Amino acid sequence: MSGHQPSLFGDADTAADQAVVHFVPDFAGWQRAARAHLTADVAPQAIWWQPDPDHVAPAGQSARAARSATVPKRFIELARAAACHSAEDRWALLYRLLWRLTHGERHLLALAGDADVARITRYAKNVRRDVHKMKAFVRFRAVDEPGFTEPRYVAWFEPTHHIVEYAAGFFVRRFSNMRWSILTPERSVHWNGQGHADSAAKPWFGPGAAKHDAPDGDDLEAAWQTYYASIFNPARVKWNAMRSEMPVKYWKNMPEAQLIPGLVQAADRRVADMEAVQKDVDALHCGPRPATPEATTRAETRARPAFSLERLAGEAALCRACGLCGPATQTVFGEGPANARIMIVGEQPGDAEDLAGRPFVGPAGQLLDRALAAAGIKRGEVYLTNAVKHFKFTPAGKKRLHAKPDYHEVAACRPWLEHELALVDPERVIALGATAAESLLQRRVAVTRERGRPIALGEREVWPTVHPSYLLRSNAETGPGFERFVADLRAAMA
Ligand code: SF4
Repeated sequence: MSGHQPSLFGDADTAADQAVVHFVPDFAGWQRAARAHLTADVAPQAIWWQPDPDHVAPAGQSARAARSATVPKRFIELARAAACHSAEDRWALLYRLLWRLTHGERHLLALAGDADVARITRYAKNVRRDVHKMKAFVRFRAVDEPGFTEPRYVAWFEPTHHIVEYAAGFFVRRFSNMRWSILTPERSVHWNGQGHADSAAKPWFGPGAAKHDAPDGDDLEAAWQTYYASIFNPARVKWNAMRSEMPVKYWKNMPEAQLIPGLVQAADRRVADMEAVQKDVDALHCGPRPATPEATTRAETRARPAFSLERLAGEAALCRACGLCGPATQTVFGEGPANARIMIVGEQPGDAEDLAGRPFVGPAGQLLDRALAAAGIKRGEVYLTNAVKHFKFTPAGKKRLHAKPDYHEVAACRPWLEHELALVDPERVIALGATAAESLLQRRVAVTRERGRPIALGEREVWPTVHPSYLLRSNAETGPGFERFVADLRAAMA
């Protein structure tokens, strides 16, 4: 437990009076040593905390730990986060707080003005912010791995604090079915895609790495840069807010951020161009319309090499292009034959789809299955997907109520739909509901007026109809409403 210096139990006013406590410098290592010393009634000023990654705890330490006092749950949470801070004094601070909490100051954490409480709170906050940045700014790149058909996704990140273990659980839950590695200068963490349901599966940690050990690009990167450039709105740039939310130090590892300086530099000119174009359009309302950024993106995306749907689904599972990825369980990508003649596009996954990770498996999906069967269409022959790949919901007690995705979320998700269209290349697309139809056609669609007939989309036809959830909501699971839905599907197939 301790290297040997005098007076383990007495007052210690100088370094010479302190016991040197060696411990593995992580929360568990400190906790084990702290419990042992607390049980032995060693005062904070009698300890010099000496981090030692190779330290092996004495055999009796855990037994003594069992007799240690309890502390508020909030202290454990704060301590767990603050232990990841880079400040060298954090271990002594944690022990001093532990000591005070267990020696007559049980409600210490309620004193926000106390210097120790203020400091641990600040450390925990710094660490959580660093974790937040890691979640937001890690960018995985696909790397082919010998012996595997699917790539490993590798990312490089430079955290400010020692957060790799602390943050790893998030990435395991989020990317549970993929093989990935996150490399940092101090530690690396790896996951082999065992799935989160396997509770025995654990990520494993290794030593730090160098930046050149991580890939600095992959096939989809140029497409994402093109997309980012197309949605970048120079009229809405808040330069200081952007730098505060996305500190410049992270930019070098984010493909889209490479574009920011150039885009901002060109902002004034682009604002002027946009105003000029708008004036022309307002004045004329005729003639060739200027190419929209979306049209440019679509053209450039289609020019990319044809990736496999599996690879695309893997990339989509990493997507954090809008806020819907936060509360949802997982990305629900499309499924079906890669050469399907018909593609069916819904709005977004529902509660059951979000949990299952597959499209159209909930009540609306079952109604769709019945309608497809009635129209003589085999589900296995069509490609099923959604305009938005994450479930948007409003929590209501234990339930999660469907919430309609907004314009920005649909636009953020459109590149995935574009890729699916380019890869599957269906002759016809059945759009279930207005969100799907509008995402495909890039204009307002009045489904009740435009349903049941084809609308040209390049060389394809889009056939809008209602979403089966609309039939469920209006109690039209049978009868004329259902029959008309079946007729729409049949017409699209004809
Ligand atoms: S909803 Fe679409 S754009 Fe938003 S995070 Fe999910 S996959 Fe990405």
